[in-house]
Amino acid sequence: MPILEKVLIANRGEIALRILRACKELDIRTIAVHSTADTELMHVRLADESVCIGPAPSKDSYLNVPAIISAAEVTNASAIHPGYGFLAENADFADQVEKSGFVFIGPTADTIRLMGDKVSAIQAMKAAGVPTVPGSDGPLTEDTERSLEIARAIGYPVIVKAAAGGGGRGMRVVHNEAALLNSIQVTQSEAAAAFGSEVVYLEKFLQKPRHVEIQVLADGQGNAVHLGDRDCSLQRRHQKVLEEAPAPGIPDEARQQVAEACVNACIEIGYRGAGTFEFLYEDGAFYFIEMNTRVQVEHPVTEQITGIDIVKEQLRIAAGLPLSFKQSEVSFFGHAFECRINAEDPKTFLPSPGKVTTFHAPGGPGIRVDSHLYDGYTVPPYYDSLIGKIISFGESRQVALARMRQALDELVVEGIRTNTALHRDLVRDRAFQSGGVSIHYLESKLQED
Ligand code: ADP
Repeated sequence: MPILEKVLIANRGEIALRILRACKELDIRTIAVHSTADTELMHVRLADESVCIGPAPSKDSYLNVPAIISAAEVTNASAIHPGYGFLAENADFADQVEKSGFVFIGPTADTIRLMGDKVSAIQAMKAAGVPTVPGSDGPLTEDTERSLEIARAIGYPVIVKAAAGGGGRGMRVVHNEAALLNSIQVTQSEAAAAFGSEVVYLEKFLQKPRHVEIQVLADGQGNAVHLGDRDCSLQRRHQKVLEEAPAPGIPDEARQQVAEACVNACIEIGYRGAGTFEFLYEDGAFYFIEMNTRVQVEHPVTEQITGIDIVKEQLRIAAGLPLSFKQSEVSFFGHAFECRINAEDPKTFLPSPGKVTTFHAPGGPGIRVDSHLYDGYTVPPYYDSLIGKIISFGESRQVALARMRQALDELVVEGIRTNTALHRDLVRDRAFQSGGVSIHYLESKLQED
């Protein structure tokens, strides 16, 4: 008997295929739901059943909750996997799924709500002993004098952030007092328009931090483990471009300490499922910024260095099974990188949808390709431009990097433009090769070129 009867995959692209593969391995039947623009998706072809849930725009299909629930009902699904993006961190969706009698593959709606509001997330983490960024420790009020006082106490530069923000949006850096009140106001109205909440808070703006995050797994039955850290500092417009695990050059003690704090926090809040604690790391210290309550794009680098299949673990946890291993049984070996391949112009970064005339995936020792591309596939213009991920693994950072260089040289995507050239350049970049560049490194490098 499979651990779950039938899983509906409420997503598209590479992550839908990734989830489908994990289900197949566990003998779980699969249901693909897709928009009218996505009938040719690889996982739709491979799924046991598929249901068209609406027209191309996401709001009519992948964000269309009633259509997804209906699809689950007509196909008799037992559980729904939201992947990342779309409805993955939507507490109302999680509620709706459970109320309709299906298992939501993720944390409880209450946990999603707690972590979806960055202010309440920071407060909960602080209470659980996770180190946070010096800040307002709560939402800013209409009392402008108080806001000025808080910023003065934190010290400039500060960053105004929307409590409901996400995807790198809803943030504004303020360098001096004269600009503060106006920046707060602008961020508030932007946040109201984009996220439906104008709640903002203040944080110290760290000048040259790295983005380091901790992967956790918890079963909601009192057991939690961490799977180590990842460095995702190479970002453009606050969006990750290239990630690696483990984060290079971090003292073991600091690494251990922060990971243990995350595990304790999971137990404290009764966390269930896979999750990521995101931190900024500067001058040897970690500062929590937010928690993602879902599987992340960059999860494969952690899988490569631990040998643990995070998506399969998500399915097991959703089936009500306790974690099948203890922290002491998690071991780390080697190093892994991931390059996000996007259908976009490598110079202008404008999306480049269209028909892929040739796709040749790299291979060889230590290379993994998570992609839904195939010859003749047309990348639709409606969705995220991620078309695949190249993951390299090796016994050392150097070996993994050499393999990535080779893999990127082997990769062929014709018919559309991709950011492969940017990655080829990055894996040969001196500073990146040495390890430990800050979150501003990529942007400043792009400006120089
Ligand atoms: P989102 O939910 O939109 O991803 P995050 O809070 O995770 O927002 O922040 C995204 C990115 O913004 C971080 O990875 C970092 O690059 C930058 N950032 C956020 N907070 C700070 C801060 N206090 N100081 C410096 N940079 C920050």
